[in-house]
Amino acid sequence: MTSAPSTRARTDLGSTVIGYPRIGPDRELKRATEGYWAGTIDRDTLRGTAAGLRRDTWTGLRDAGLGSVPSNTFSYYDQMLDTALAVGAVPERFAGIAGSEDRLDLLFAMARGREGIPACEMTKWFDTNYHYLVPELGPRTRLAPTDRKAVEEFREAADAGVRTRPVLIGPLTFLLLAKPAEEAPEGFRPLDLVGPLVEVYVDLLAELAAAGAEWVQLDEPAFAADRTPEEIALLGKVYDRLSAAPSRPRLLVASYFGELGPALPVLARTAVDAIGLDLVAGAADLESVSGIPALLGKTVLAGVVDGRNVWRTDLDAALGKATVLQGAVGRVEISTSCSLLHVPYDVEAETGLTADVVDRLAFANQKVDEVVLLARALHEGPGAVRSELEAARAVRAGVAAASGRDADVRRRLVELGEDHYRRGDAGARAAAQRAALGLPEIPTTTIGSFPQTGAIRADRAAHRAGRLDDAAYTERMRAEIERVVALQEKIGLDVLVHGEPERNDMVQYFAENLDGFATTEHGWVQSYGSRCVRPPILHSDVSRPEPITVEWARYAQSLSDKPVKGMLTGPVTILAWSFVRDDQPLGDTARQVGLALRDEVTDLEAAGLAIIQVDEPALRELLPLHELDREDYLAWAVDAFRMVTGAVADATQIHTHLCYSEFGEVVGAIDGLDADVTTVEAARSRMEVLAELGPGVPRALGPGIYDVHSPEVPSEDELAGQLTAARQHIGADRLWANPDCGLKTRGEPEVVAALTNLVAAVHRVRATT
Ligand code: GLN
Ligand code: ZN
Repeated sequence: MTSAPSTRARTDLGSTVIGYPRIGPDRELKRATEGYWAGTIDRDTLRGTAAGLRRDTWTGLRDAGLGSVPSNTFSYYDQMLDTALAVGAVPERFAGIAGSEDRLDLLFAMARGREGIPACEMTKWFDTNYHYLVPELGPRTRLAPTDRKAVEEFREAADAGVRTRPVLIGPLTFLLLAKPAEEAPEGFRPLDLVGPLVEVYVDLLAELAAAGAEWVQLDEPAFAADRTPEEIALLGKVYDRLSAAPSRPRLLVASYFGELGPALPVLARTAVDAIGLDLVAGAADLESVSGIPALLGKTVLAGVVDGRNVWRTDLDAALGKATVLQGAVGRVEISTSCSLLHVPYDVEAETGLTADVVDRLAFANQKVDEVVLLARALHEGPGAVRSELEAARAVRAGVAAASGRDADVRRRLVELGEDHYRRGDAGARAAAQRAALGLPEIPTTTIGSFPQTGAIRADRAAHRAGRLDDAAYTERMRAEIERVVALQEKIGLDVLVHGEPERNDMVQYFAENLDGFATTEHGWVQSYGSRCVRPPILHSDVSRPEPITVEWARYAQSLSDKPVKGMLTGPVTILAWSFVRDDQPLGDTARQVGLALRDEVTDLEAAGLAIIQVDEPALRELLPLHELDREDYLAWAVDAFRMVTGAVADATQIHTHLCYSEFGEVVGAIDGLDADVTTVEAARSRMEVLAELGPGVPRALGPGIYDVHSPEVPSEDELAGQLTAARQHIGADRLWANPDCGLKTRGEPEVVAALTNLVAAVHRVRATT
């Protein structure tokens, strides 16, 4: 049997992955980093842990059989931050630290802030759950190759016996995701720095070539989103310049999270050596490749193994895509659609999953094996790996036969016509709710969770482990609910909550209590910095075996004459923070989740909860990258929410909570949710969001009047000021007063102080007209 390398010239790219997880299979990097921050381990120990993780990654990927192994995919915090440091884009407020301290301490200062020096802003990486640090650029930013991380890691890998392909964020994606520095004059755009930045990349490429790198990968995912003709033209110019660099490695430009569309022919006309296509999210590019003759001179990476999701690949379909590509380009290599950063390490670490679920899963290591297998099938012919392909087919067939279809759920969804989603007229509802609830003007409330103490977490863990029986656990949670209700009564809030002590996480809690989901033990992925999440896996039709929140809510309501809000997580947020089956449209899955939650809402109402909140903090997060796809998304997102809430009486008040401050494209959808009260984050923008939402969402609004992410206690004056500003925007009759998110990460004393000031501020504002 011939082995793949013998058919390949030494300079061929080879099968590969766009990137790989870096937190460590057991979250070693998280522990070491947090230990370093807490002062319990020193810098060298942290560096040693990091070096060990990098080495294991390189040797592991090589031994798995990849033709090309990426490097510089490691990061202590974030790859955009690393790029900022590599090109010298350090904001002026960190200049003192940059001049005097170790690189690692500068990096952590930019990521997390330092006394009196605010951190760089963090925001979502495209439509993923990963967050990056936003580069800040101004006319005074002196761009220059500043740190040598990519070169150092290339050398380190070479010392470990692995010749790697360094990966860098491409210059245009870096600029397109950057924002103007504080001191930049009006009208300055980060893109204005493209000239000098590209020269820095020319130098970086020369250094990498001198160190022996044959290939370098530049990531340009920004071109998978909508881009202007000018930006696309600039892509051509930038890669003309970089490919004309006098001494450079071969260049792979990788795009992901969607199709390159109009950017593809432009990139193909440059002299870059290889282009990476996401043929999962951007399969549409396959239709245009045959019309781009310039691709005949290039290697194209067929990103056919999904880097964003946890399902086994349909190898036959993947091979089909690669074969189509082969007819239209110079050479095809197999790859993942994007970095494997977004999936956990290894299915084999999971011991608690049922066989039918395990058979459907592929985490990072399994996806690497799929890439290797597909590459052999492509280059040596399917016959070379016939038995492996057949085995994979058999597993898929078994899974398809056993796939969790729930006839009852499907029948109910068909029967539930659209009018079941619609509530009565908003004005009539408002009147019925006024009569039923009798709330004062500018009612006060909170968003749901109260501080989660160590004792509560320990009780939950003990219960899960079987060390605390159901009766004892219920008693502890009830005691906490009682405490939180009494506290809210004492503070004088108008609408109370039970505090969510029984919830580990607002999505995982529902996933654990609904059928159709699995949860993992080790399936961690990086969300930002040292923060990792363990998304549930939504694998089958969703249904609710029994009421989930009803008894806790009923108990809380029994303790007070004031209304208590029932508290649920909405379908869009449950989908956004889970790995979701990809064998049916997302909208269909959302409706199944919506139906299960609709039953919960109905039961809450019957249990006497007159107010029910359905949180949708991820509504904007799932917004598609392409404007063309947005209408469809927003339509099903709104539908799913209305399915949840559409069954209640006029007198039952529906709240929703959303947690970001730029609403823009989603104002219409927020209005479409038709909630009676919408609470949003607003404190950081000093109520500016109300200019958008006030006219766009003509029902009651609760703009968060203080930022729960800060430990500072807002004063009564400050809170009264925010309320007065809010009242000017929307009037007192539609205004609610509340913090801007849940309180679970805060300490009890600051929460009591802040809420006490909030109530006092409302009393003061009520007294003035
Ligand atoms: N009800 C949730 C809480 O208070 C909402 C959290 C969120 O918006 N992310 O914790
Ligand atoms: Zn929130």
